[in-house]
Amino acid sequence: MRLCEKNASELISMLRKKECSAREITEDVLKRIDKTRNLNTYISINENALKNADSIDALIAEGCELPILAGIPVAVKDNISVKGMKMTCGSKMLQNYVAPYDSEAADRLKKAGAVLIGKTNMDEFGMGSASDTSVFGAVRNPVNADFSAGGSSGGSAAAVRSCSAVLALGSDTGGSVRQPSAFCGTVGFKPTYGTVSRYGLTAFASSLEQIGSIGRNCADTALLQRVICGYDSKDAVTAKYFSFSPLDENLKMNGIRAAVPRELFSENISDEVKTAVETALKLIEKNGAAVEFVDIPSLDYAVNAYYIISSAEASSNLSRFDGVRFGYRAENCTTLSELYERSRSEGFGKEVKRRIMLGTFVLTDGCFEAYYKRAVLAAKRITADISDILENYDIIVSPVYPTPPFLLGDKISPLQRYAADICTVSANLSGLPAVSLPCGKSRNELPIGIQFMGRRFADSRLLSIAAAFEKLNGGLC
Ligand code: GLN
Repeated sequence: MRLCEKNASELISMLRKKECSAREITEDVLKRIDKTRNLNTYISINENALKNADSIDALIAEGCELPILAGIPVAVKDNISVKGMKMTCGSKMLQNYVAPYDSEAADRLKKAGAVLIGKTNMDEFGMGSASDTSVFGAVRNPVNADFSAGGSSGGSAAAVRSCSAVLALGSDTGGSVRQPSAFCGTVGFKPTYGTVSRYGLTAFASSLEQIGSIGRNCADTALLQRVICGYDSKDAVTAKYFSFSPLDENLKMNGIRAAVPRELFSENISDEVKTAVETALKLIEKNGAAVEFVDIPSLDYAVNAYYIISSAEASSNLSRFDGVRFGYRAENCTTLSELYERSRSEGFGKEVKRRIMLGTFVLTDGCFEAYYKRAVLAAKRITADISDILENYDIIVSPVYPTPPFLLGDKISPLQRYAADICTVSANLSGLPAVSLPCGKSRNELPIGIQFMGRRFADSRLLSIAAAFEKLNGGLC
């Protein structure tokens, strides 16, 4: 097995036993990146990656104690800033923008010794479910390049699956770490809101969004999550006393209580996905978990609430891109309003403009009460209803996405795309942790994911339960 194909935990132990060097790992990953260019996974590659790996090798040579992720190549979604590297957010608006500082997540990764290998392709400003709204073109699924890798963190999931990164960071506002993980067959984790700093993340909807981790198994994903989470004075919503405890490797499915909301198992879920998730449910039941179907009627409003709240926040967050302070600037403008108008019209893509318009509309006088306020009330109701369920159950289980990966270029209307976010958005509206992991395959041999949602701040326990399922199911699909 090539070095790039090994899991983080294996590489960590190999480095410590001097069975390979950090340079060899990074070189192998860079070779794989080169070989998989057709997938359009990366927007930019870190030119200092080998130098960074050499500094880890120097530590090893000196016999120093190694930080936890020393020498592990980690990819970073291109809306998370890494000092001195481009950060485009997949947009023409920021095509030439170079980040002047590190995000807190990147800073923690560097301190943990990770080699930040490159910045991954994504839907423009994180808006989408197929990584096809990027100005750099769509990401292709590593399992079958004719299909979508999912989105918006499609580049990160595809990088991990194709072994052109060992681990990757994504961001999840409404499912963008979990859904591409389901499509690519990786493990994608969206943490409890407030456990990972958003400092240096170009947020699309700040009240919903968290940076999350992608790995090829639960243990790797947990390792990355442990490094990036924790209190940060630069992000006022981060929790003061949270830390991610190591996974409980002895945890078994026996005695776990799983609730399956009927609303996330409706007629809109394709037969292939239903069958894969049902088979997984039978497996956990056979191994001692109690699986019960429950009703959470407020979930029917989740997609509506999500698109109103996220678009409202996007319209305000993206107002800073005005062609003056930074970002794309239209040329030969004669007035200030022409400069604003043309810079934004030319710099943003279609989907981003659609959301800015929707968001601006729901915040206008009159519509604010009718849409925005009601969406916030719906989100509160959903949060309360899910919390009630989680008083009696350890996890809420559902599909991740209603269909297996779809063909790139499939004609799906924006509204159909939005509706398909039904299974993932509630975790964001309620701020709860959720993980997507492989559970089966489609007729086309493409991965299908299952989602486990857990209690607030019980991130490590949720990933421990996911790891217990992974053991039963056999991992990567
Ligand atoms: N598909 C969702 C959307 O388009 C999720 C986006 C995300 O999580 N960044 O809004």
